[in-house]
Amino acid sequence: MMPFSHRNRDAQGSGMTSQRARDRMVERLQADGIGDRRVLEVIRHLPRHQFIDEALASRAYEDTALPIGRGQTISQPWVVARMTEALIEMRLPSRVLEIGTGSGYQAAVLAGLVGTVYTVERIEELLRSARRRFRALKLDNIRSRHDDGRLGWPDEAPFDAIMVTAAGAELQVALLEQLAPDGCLIAPVGPPGRQTLTRIRAGEAGWMREDLGPVSFVPLLGGTG
Ligand code: SAH
Repeated sequence: MMPFSHRNRDAQGSGMTSQRARDRMVERLQADGIGDRRVLEVIRHLPRHQFIDEALASRAYEDTALPIGRGQTISQPWVVARMTEALIEMRLPSRVLEIGTGSGYQAAVLAGLVGTVYTVERIEELLRSARRRFRALKLDNIRSRHDDGRLGWPDEAPFDAIMVTAAGAELQVALLEQLAPDGCLIAPVGPPGRQTLTRIRAGEAGWMREDLGPVSFVPLLGGTG
């Protein structure tokens, strides 16, 4: 090692937001059962600290959800990884709809894997911050919209896959109707404290429903804010 290397690394910013911190997070995700290498590599290269407030950036690579304002949270990395791998397990979708842009992190992970991501957020202020991050990171395959995502994005339907990142009491029929044949939808469903990650696959014989385990998400709300 060159004698300068240590100083150079310090000059690049806090070790808490470095590539090494991301590498360690990916190792943890693998140890906790995330197996899809495509997902792990996207997460390894995406700066999660840029999706949260600077005051919390030093905690960006802990495996935890963090507040992003307006009572909302950026999802825990393990949950992002698990939902992403469950969504692309059968086949890699080309057009994906996400409901609940929030910080934009989940949309950015998807953007590294699929053709185009369409994402809908009901809180305009959060959407504006997310769009700024997409531009800064040159993620030009993300389209976003301020609306009540329970209605989906009818003008752009059908979608090969749909991911909902806020929990509804039940599955949204409007979203199921915007799923392409052979499409896949993943959503947390149920009341606070009793939500189940649910995967729906649209096949010739109808919809097939699978429960992928307990999760904890902020609620899917009506209207826009
Ligand atoms: N995917 C986000 C997680 C954000 S938390 C991320 O990676 O950061 C869930 C988000 O869903 C919140 O921002 C919340 O405002 C939004 N939300 C809740 N109900 C919604 C609805 N009906 N339509 C669109 N967004 C909704």
